[in-house]
Amino acid sequence: MSGTILTNYHTHTPRCHHAEGSEEEYIQAALKHGYQILGFADHAPWPYATPRFVSHIRMLPEELPGYVHTLKELRAKYAGQIRLHIGLEAEYFPRYMNWLLEVKEELGIEYLILGNHYDRTDENGDYFGRSSTPDQLKRYAEMTVAGMESGAYRYLAHPDLFLNRYPAFDQAAEETCRILCQAAVKLDLPLEYNLIGPTLRGEGRLGYTTPEFWDIAAEYPVKAILGCDAHRPGGLLSAERMEAARAQLSARGITVLDSLPGLE
Ligand SMILES: [Zn+2]
Ligand SMILES: [Zn+2]
Repeated sequence: MSGTILTNYHTHTPRCHHAEGSEEEYIQAALKHGYQILGFADHAPWPYATPRFVSHIRMLPEELPGYVHTLKELRAKYAGQIRLHIGLEAEYFPRYMNWLLEVKEELGIEYLILGNHYDRTDENGDYFGRSSTPDQLKRYAEMTVAGMESGAYRYLAHPDLFLNRYPAFDQAAEETCRILCQAAVKLDLPLEYNLIGPTLRGEGRLGYTTPEFWDIAAEYPVKAILGCDAHRPGGLLSAERMEAARAQLSARGITVLDSLPGLE
């Protein structure tokens, strides 16, 4: 074992309707495994312009204060045992970004991570995890880099989400990886090694997290960070499994961060 500390900044809560386990159960799981830092980054709500549009994969805007309040109480309760941080996993939806940055300030949300699931908005935009054509990859690269350049996010979650349903690692796929890695280096933005697994890799789809992406990332001086993307308390991996994931990256010569500056 190296002398690194155990952290995860990508933890969900049932407020997103596709995760299970109370906040406190995630904290208990993290304590059991010896995590020093646990960051919650549930799916951010958005103030949709489309009347009556409801996303079923995220909390409602009016639930956000309760999310923050619960985590602030737990942060005080577990002070001295584990350091809790309050964040959100958000897409880059340009028309709603001002709103998100305002409520982030107002409520004392400490950080955002970029989980670029949808093109422009999920009211009618494509889900990037179902990309199957080079054109869709181009859009993913454009919107992801725009989000990275916005300066709003602390890292890029599951950078290779676009490979999830993509049939083969072709030239367009490789080019997309390179665009993302170049932006990460230029902007000094870490890339997440997403540990949500088991990845749905198989017939006609590459899944994520992919060795292909990280083989290319290794050609660049990128920084990586492990992210459990926990949607249930058991999704917070043991110290041994985190170390094994870290070793995958280290073996490629990639620098792995333990913690995010200011969120130690
Ligand atoms: Zn999710
Ligand atoms: Zn997530």
